[in-house]
Amino acid sequence: MNLNKSKEAFLEAKKVIPGGVNSPVRAFKSVGGSPIFINRAKGAWLYDIDGNEYIDYIGSWGPMIVGHRHPDVLAALEEVLTYGNGAPTELETILAQIVVEAVPSVEMIRMVNSGTEATMSAIRLARGYTDRDLIVKLEGCYHGHADYLLIEAGSGATTLGVPTSPGVPKDFAKNTISAPYNDLETLCKIFAERGEEIAAVILEPIPGNMGLILPKEGYLSGLRELTKEYGTLLIFDEVMTGFRVAYGGAQELYDIDPDLTCFGKIIGGGLPVGAYGGKKEIMLHLAPEGPIYQAGTLSGNPLAMAAGISTLSLLQKPGVYDQLWLMGKRLEDGIRQNLEELNVPAFLTRSGSMFSLFFTDQEVKDYKTVRSSDTEFYAKYFKGMLEEGIYLAPSQFEAGFISLVHTESEIDETIEANKKVLRRLKT
Ligand code: PLP
Repeated sequence: MNLNKSKEAFLEAKKVIPGGVNSPVRAFKSVGGSPIFINRAKGAWLYDIDGNEYIDYIGSWGPMIVGHRHPDVLAALEEVLTYGNGAPTELETILAQIVVEAVPSVEMIRMVNSGTEATMSAIRLARGYTDRDLIVKLEGCYHGHADYLLIEAGSGATTLGVPTSPGVPKDFAKNTISAPYNDLETLCKIFAERGEEIAAVILEPIPGNMGLILPKEGYLSGLRELTKEYGTLLIFDEVMTGFRVAYGGAQELYDIDPDLTCFGKIIGGGLPVGAYGGKKEIMLHLAPEGPIYQAGTLSGNPLAMAAGISTLSLLQKPGVYDQLWLMGKRLEDGIRQNLEELNVPAFLTRSGSMFSLFFTDQEVKDYKTVRSSDTEFYAKYFKGMLEEGIYLAPSQFEAGFISLVHTESEIDETIEANKKVLRRLKT
């Protein structure tokens, strides 16, 4: 496989961009080697500058649920090129109405430009609304790169967090408690001690940022009850799962009614977007209606709104989510069969069209168990799959995404490649 042009492009990029990329995971650091540079995408396929082609399971890290360059999305973008920017457009209301209709817990919504902005703003709103400072985040959940969310657990269950990045003041970490995912007991202890001071619990209801983890039965509903008891807001970060695992997101799938929800990715159809919404009573505390400030020059810009509206409209068609779940199951069944046949220890997780394959012999249910995975083996697997024309996430701790335009034949090709690569790695 020739990757010479990509290698050259990476060297050029490194001269002017730290690490050669604008978001760290793209650099292939955890799998080694040099990232591939893409200059064309269509449907389920990506094409690199050396002329190699790949079946894409990254989907721009989630947004491309209807595939790359869907004709409806392109037409919608073309149509709004004549719009100005910075004054209200009806497009913002249309997208807001679509989300409000899709997600019953969201009565009002505010558009921003990224998932990071969405979570950061939702937390400010929760703090302002409750007049409390503490927040709880769960280990292994990623909510973007705001200071007080780049925190990991301290030494004991109820100790305060420690920053995971230089540049995050220790003082900021003081207001974040980090707790394990899928562990209601620990959270109950934390709440018994400090519940009255906690503004919000923020989590990915189905975490996708430590690889895909599924919530234990009763975990999310228990969390809902606990937070309600203490007047703490429950914030679902559905930047990844929103309109992905079901039209109404993870909260539809698990029938939970959070106070606030964060969106991003799919609702912008591949353009930069984020949003946060929830109960009207809470949302009305936002400026200019209320005193809690949040703003954005390009928030609700016509291009992102148009791509979002056309993507969500496509997702309203009957059978769309059945198709996504069906393709997910086909891939899962095929891979499971390969794992069994070749006797490879692994743990596969899936929620509809999101999946992860962890190379571990443990049951994966939280950040600790996720880290039992053999990342060296994953790196070899990743490279092998790339050589077979399958583009997976360049990290063991990311989810894969199937789009509506992945056909049975592409899924089967992927299963075959999986078998071939695993067989080779076993010998
Ligand atoms: N929240 C979740 C669940 C995410 O997956 C991400 C990004 O991957 C973010 C927040 C941050 O979004 P962005 O990268 O658009 O800032």
